[in-house]
Amino acid sequence: MIKFNNSYTKLPEQFYGAATPSAAVMPRLIAVNDSLAKFLNIDLSSYSQDDLTGIFSGKLIPSGAEPIALAYSGHQFGHFNPTMGDGRAILIGEVIGSDGLQYDIQLKGSGKTPYSKRGDGRSWLGPVLREYVVSEAMYSLGIPTTRALGAAETGEDVYREDVLPGGVFTRVARSHIRVGTFEHFASRGDIQNLKILCDYAINRHDSDLNDHADKYNIFFDRIFKRKLDLVSKWMGVGFIHGVMNTDNTSISGETLDFGPCAFMDHFSYNKVFSSIDTHGRYAYSNQGRIAVWNLSVLANALFPLLQREGESQEEAVKRLESAFDDYSKYYDSKWLEVMGKKLGLFNATESDRPLIGQFLNYLEEHNQDFTNIFRSLNTLEFVDKEFEKEWLLRLDLQEKTQEEAISLMNSVNPYVIPRNHQIEKMIRLAVDGDYTLFEKLLKVLQNPYEENVSNLKFTLPPNNDEVVKRTFCGT
Ligand code: AMP
Ligand code: MG
Repeated sequence: MIKFNNSYTKLPEQFYGAATPSAAVMPRLIAVNDSLAKFLNIDLSSYSQDDLTGIFSGKLIPSGAEPIALAYSGHQFGHFNPTMGDGRAILIGEVIGSDGLQYDIQLKGSGKTPYSKRGDGRSWLGPVLREYVVSEAMYSLGIPTTRALGAAETGEDVYREDVLPGGVFTRVARSHIRVGTFEHFASRGDIQNLKILCDYAINRHDSDLNDHADKYNIFFDRIFKRKLDLVSKWMGVGFIHGVMNTDNTSISGETLDFGPCAFMDHFSYNKVFSSIDTHGRYAYSNQGRIAVWNLSVLANALFPLLQREGESQEEAVKRLESAFDDYSKYYDSKWLEVMGKKLGLFNATESDRPLIGQFLNYLEEHNQDFTNIFRSLNTLEFVDKEFEKEWLLRLDLQEKTQEEAISLMNSVNPYVIPRNHQIEKMIRLAVDGDYTLFEKLLKVLQNPYEENVSNLKFTLPPNNDEVVKRTFCGT
């Protein structure tokens, strides 16, 4: 049984369109996430295997579900697109998790919706498995993210450059409200629905603000901080989202829309994987700045609600502008905190920036693997003796033992991450019907901070012939 508790369908009709999953022809279940199902109070044992295959492929609509596709707009690579929406995703309903909070259950790749335009609404198996493994890895790394509840093959061919097997991914999110959802109503001058959306989102994500007199400003501030906290965490594990468009920017602070995302192997400040990011707009080290830019778009959209009573438009603009200076500083301080911990510093300060910079420059100049080099610092040794000396002196200055510094580092420097070449290999094998690597990766990535020599091969960077240079969007 899934106890649905749907709320989005009660919003005005401009918020969504009815949609029926249609991609499953001869479905086959790939995976169900038992522990997440349990957390969501879903009793899997009440379903037959056929029912589960049906549910996770979109063939069977569980009772109480109300399938819809969400309307939104968004800035894609800086350009506003007023007509977007879920083109290949269908929200089947919401449930209450064991924490008392509301969660969306969404099928991705289950067929056309009112927002599909010329797209087919389908997904091939590759992006389904990639999002499954990477989002679950992200969760185990302790980074806020949407999660994987299930995956199925549809039995239907999907036509891309090749003919590929189709798949459906079932994703769980605190909500699928994006910066682009606010832009959708703001750009239409529809302040009434903008306010309805805002009140709905506050009730869903920040219900303690429901009755606060300045709730919109505080809400906005929280979204900002959640997003910048998230990006600083991405930076700490070398994650590059790849398509940080405003329609892919969740207001819950969860990592959303795993398209051409990737974790980098050797460190490079300007690393880009996405085949469509030709100018490096979403390069590794640009992510903080881009997050602030995306949130400036949100500020514009929310402006009619952010202006306080008795405040002139000019005053409100001025206030928000100065808030943005603080937000950039906030991100810088979060980044410093994250990178400091990776070097064993409990309280990194501004004066530690050169030391961190020196280390990262070394990694870039010497083509060093980001994850493995950071992890190896738990020996308190480093090949560059000049750095090592300064670093150990700095560690000595803090009132912590070496053991404490080491355990701090081990808690933030993962032993194993989802490496691109392993992900690609996993997808290649699965397309041929072999899911052993998919299952192995899921298992190995469940304890990413734990040193386990039997998983050594998953910690290795790619050989020259395994390097993944480009990643592609989820379509
Ligand atoms: P993305 O940036 O990958 O999240 O996608 C951007 C937009 O394109 C979203 O509105 C998607 O719903 C839509 N889209 C992507 N792939 C497809 C597809 N195969 N069919 C229909 N719409 C799609
Ligand atoms: Mg998207």
